[in-house]
Amino acid sequence: MSRVAYVNGRFVRKAEAVVHIEDRGYQFADAVYEVWALFDGKLGDPDGHFARLERSLAELQITMPMSRQALTVVLKETVRRNHIREGLAYLQISRGVATRDHAFPPKGTPPAVVITVSRVDRDAAESRARKGVAVITTPENRWGRCDIKTVGLLPNALAKQKAREVGAVEAWFVDDLGLVTEGTSSNAWIVDGDGNLRTRDTNANILRGVTRLSLLDVARKAGFNVEERPFTSDEALSAREAFITGAGTLVLPVVLIDGKTVGSGQPGPVAARLRALYIEHAKATAV
Ligand code: PLP
Repeated sequence: MSRVAYVNGRFVRKAEAVVHIEDRGYQFADAVYEVWALFDGKLGDPDGHFARLERSLAELQITMPMSRQALTVVLKETVRRNHIREGLAYLQISRGVATRDHAFPPKGTPPAVVITVSRVDRDAAESRARKGVAVITTPENRWGRCDIKTVGLLPNALAKQKAREVGAVEAWFVDDLGLVTEGTSSNAWIVDGDGNLRTRDTNANILRGVTRLSLLDVARKAGFNVEERPFTSDEALSAREAFITGAGTLVLPVVLIDGKTVGSGQPGPVAARLRALYIEHAKATAV
């Protein structure tokens, strides 16, 4: 169990950790977040996550509450105090606390910072990766700035719940053109009939997944042909393989889409290889 949270400069017992009722994250979803996978107590793929955090904050004109170095120290200290080796570190930064008013609070209002960590059972995760998972599709209904990692995740939460109710682990959003954008908390990929890896391009309204970005590089270096090109859910069904990527799932094979089998219905060799390569990369870069 994770017992300690970091809240605005203090380490507190999680059960007693609180934020202000006029925190703008709570009032307006005026907050961004980041999630790092933890490997042996270290933050995986750190640079990509810090770079995206800084970008999300800049897009919303929220000031970075402390330097990357200081944030790394605080994140690692939260991990250490919870005695967690394999898991996830969650960081949320809101625009701070102010009397409720849609417009920004006075300049100088300090951003509010919360960090929590949770444990992941890597054996269970590996066994799930060996079996593959089911996803469903759902119409894209999110706002136009999904590239900013904000806590405004209601459409994602509703879609994830819809997936859970039918035994699926993820929902893929599908846009007006019938093209898959991404999952509720992961990016979507296929291995097409020619053996090319395909994932949606970042001109589309998607989150620029850090796992996605690193995997593009890792896969190219391993000799795969990678294309940032959209696909429909029918193309995914007739693909050789499909999989999702994210700090929570790493690289996870998809074997069912809306109850229909992808390829052979079994996880394929490409996703398994990419999972191993990505984990190797994340561990090698971990701080
Ligand atoms: N897409 C969405 C909507 C997400 O919420 C996430 C992660 O939470 C991802 C993609 C995957 O991003 P990352 O690989 O940085 O975890």
